[in-house]
Amino acid sequence: MSISISPSDRVFVLTGAGISAESGLPTFRASDGLWAGYKVEEICTPEALRRNPALVWDFYSRRRADCARAAPNPAHIALAQLEAQLPGRFFLCTQNVDDLHERAGSHHLVHMHGELAKSRCEHECGRLPVEDHAVYASLDQVPHCACGGRMRPHIVFFGEIPFEMRRIEREISESTLMLVVGTSGSVYPAANFVHWARQAGARTVYIGPEPPLNASAFTHIVEGKAGQVLPGLFTLA
Ligand code: NAD
Repeated sequence: MSISISPSDRVFVLTGAGISAESGLPTFRASDGLWAGYKVEEICTPEALRRNPALVWDFYSRRRADCARAAPNPAHIALAQLEAQLPGRFFLCTQNVDDLHERAGSHHLVHMHGELAKSRCEHECGRLPVEDHAVYASLDQVPHCACGGRMRPHIVFFGEIPFEMRRIEREISESTLMLVVGTSGSVYPAANFVHWARQAGARTVYIGPEPPLNASAFTHIVEGKAGQVLPGLFTLA
């Protein structure tokens, strides 16, 4: 299978946890609704942060350590190469909080669900997120903001609004080809992007080892692991 990209195409890519699976980072709902052994509802919610910030920070500290040990795989690299071949016509939106796309060389991207390597104040005090790669051994080590609030992971928890939605909507409305890689189609609003792209008349292609929940909205499904399928998938006209 080959996907042709013409000079008039604009490409929007959405990636999920599956693209980082071949880098050794566990997906979100591998088979049992757990992420790296944790129940996400007990970790990835504003209530969890209020109830047990030590557990939430322990989880994200471990994810930071996992991410530091991981390296981009051929799928991340193939997307960075595609971006380089399509200047001004390529946009990447990832649901992933790891930084493997950046480390593969992607530039034009947004992290709609936040970034592991950043922290921000737990209060809405207006200060910007800061870069933070620290792995905290206990809650005592987590720094505080100038306003007095404790820092929290710069992550969009369930029930919170994803980042950059206006820009994402604009990019989807302008795209003619949507590629969706390694996401189960179970987390909204990302699971709706393919419907928005179809409404705008775009071709929509899913790449992953099994069809996602929203499979019927795709014009093509390419079954396989992203690291094996993406390199060599595109033909530029
Ligand atoms: P998900 O776990 O619900 O789905 C993962 C999908 O990846 C599945 O459909 C699976 O078939 C597919 N997959 C597995 N191996 C693959 C491979 N080698 N190549 C391609 N696809 C493969 O993940 P999701 O839909 O991204 O869930 C959304 C949430 O999980 C996001 O909010 C994200 O922030 C969070 N998350 C992020 C990371 C990360 O940053 N690496 C890891 C786990 C979860």
